[in-house]
Amino acid sequence: MSEPRARSGRPQVVVVGGGISGLATAWRLSRERRDVDITVLEASPVVGGKLLVSEIEGIAVDEGAESVLATRPEAVRLIHEAGLGADLVHPAVSAPSLVIGGDLVPMPTGLVMGVPTDLAQLARSGVLSSQALARLPLDHMLPQTRTGEDISVGEYVGRRLGPEVVDRLVSPLLMGVYADRAVNVSMRAAVPKLFDAVQSERSVLTAARLVRGPAPEPGAVRAPVFAGIRGGIGRLPLALAEQLRAAGVRIETSVCVRDLRRGVDGWELVVGATTDERVLHADAVVLAVPAPAAHKLARGLSVQAETDLDEIETTSVAVVTLVYRVEDLPGGDLPDGSGYLVPPSEGRPVKAATFASHKWAWLGEACTERGVVAVRCSLGHAGDVEVLQQDDESLVRISAEDLAFVARLGRAWPIASRVTRWGGGLPRYAVGHVDRAARITDALERLPGLTAVGAAFDGVGIAACIARADRSALLISQRLCSDGEWRHG
Ligand SMILES: Cc1cc2nc3c(=O)[nH]c(=O)nc-3n(C[C@H](O)[C@H](O)[C@H](O)COP(=O)(O)OP(=O)(O)OC[C@H]3O[C@@H](n4cnc5c(N)ncnc54)[C@H](O)[C@@H]3O)c2cc1C
Repeated sequence: MSEPRARSGRPQVVVVGGGISGLATAWRLSRERRDVDITVLEASPVVGGKLLVSEIEGIAVDEGAESVLATRPEAVRLIHEAGLGADLVHPAVSAPSLVIGGDLVPMPTGLVMGVPTDLAQLARSGVLSSQALARLPLDHMLPQTRTGEDISVGEYVGRRLGPEVVDRLVSPLLMGVYADRAVNVSMRAAVPKLFDAVQSERSVLTAARLVRGPAPEPGAVRAPVFAGIRGGIGRLPLALAEQLRAAGVRIETSVCVRDLRRGVDGWELVVGATTDERVLHADAVVLAVPAPAAHKLARGLSVQAETDLDEIETTSVAVVTLVYRVEDLPGGDLPDGSGYLVPPSEGRPVKAATFASHKWAWLGEACTERGVVAVRCSLGHAGDVEVLQQDDESLVRISAEDLAFVARLGRAWPIASRVTRWGGGLPRYAVGHVDRAARITDALERLPGLTAVGAAFDGVGIAACIARADRSALLISQRLCSDGEWRHG
């Protein structure tokens, strides 16, 4: 059934997808333009997408993302605007370890996505073998490594600093963000400042130092890199949705958009079951869905966008949350620090573990009250999908056994567990991603009233998603006339 074209006289904007990208776009647009009707359509029963918090053993623990980048303004600003400023927190400990030869070794400091800037400190850390350390100064003598339009981080750093730096320092950090190995990740997309710096600077060690900037004065405290929310980052979309509803934005959950087409007078969105379909009309549409869903909706609209969206692959990951009784742990606690990252060569099923009750003071307090600790284990990456084919019980066992070995937990076994699967949860940022994302953006935005946001474009992190959402909201605000007509830029 086709719903009558809204004749309120107000332009209609529909946002497809109620993850942080869609909600942030709706939020910014609602603040920019009071004369526009905004509807957010979300396929699942709740908004938030990968921002989701729920309780395990009575304690709130994030099931997906758990922190935002605090070194750029967008996410922290949105947390304040959503009314959660008073609950903004920073990690109590942010020192992860690396698993080297099965042992936990504190991660050296001063890294630019794994590229060292303080060689003396790196040598003391014991992370690299003496052969790998001895190779590093070669970087100052080697001729420039050509990057062309783009190159993988792994290939570039491997050529300059050797394979061990890639395996033990770069890959674990990239894995934590992209769930992919360094040899698969675009340098231009993942470390744009370093990519730019090495265009004129032959040595990557020098380029990394330039990117990092001067070392802080002795005693000076660096501003926190990450922020979270007391009660979980999953509170952000819920608070935002509440504010949006109060501002008159319509949010419909359990509504999947199946088709998007040009109508005689704007856009038509097909929702609902085939036997009971509804057609909604819009003057402008924001696609705020993962790349495969955007690809499906862009079908027939733009060959360029369709082709390029199809090339953005995704990676599935799982987060296994484990709760242990303090009294079962050797020494009554987890090892010090915020958790650990695992180099690919270690061949372990868990690629990272966060000691959540150490990392977040609010979570630690809730755990202490109950005499427990909470750990989040991340499994699955682009080169390892088999592990996720196991059932939940097996994933819990694999995680608990791996943690018992790496964190030396003896015979301690979790008293509660939860498996959260994020099928296709992360877009892959392959070599050429920046140009690919630009082509998609350009092709979609050439269609009057269409724009796309989301993790597949300018960065997978929440802050990058919000930055893109802000940009798209501004674009709509500038180009959507008060009679619903679209002004080309
Ligand atoms: C396990 C995990 C941990 C992470 N940790 C962090 C972290 O700590 N910090 C950080 O900055 N980033 C983190 N990220 C990345 C970040 O969370 C995501 O990239 C970001 O949340 C993506 O937001 P989004 O709105 O673009 O997409 P999504 O969150 O995927 O939202 C898209 C929404 O669109 C809906 N949808 C899809 N198709 C349709 C349709 N046809 N019709 C209607 N609705 C539809 C979906 O149901 C979903 O709700 C993590 C990601 C994962 C998977």
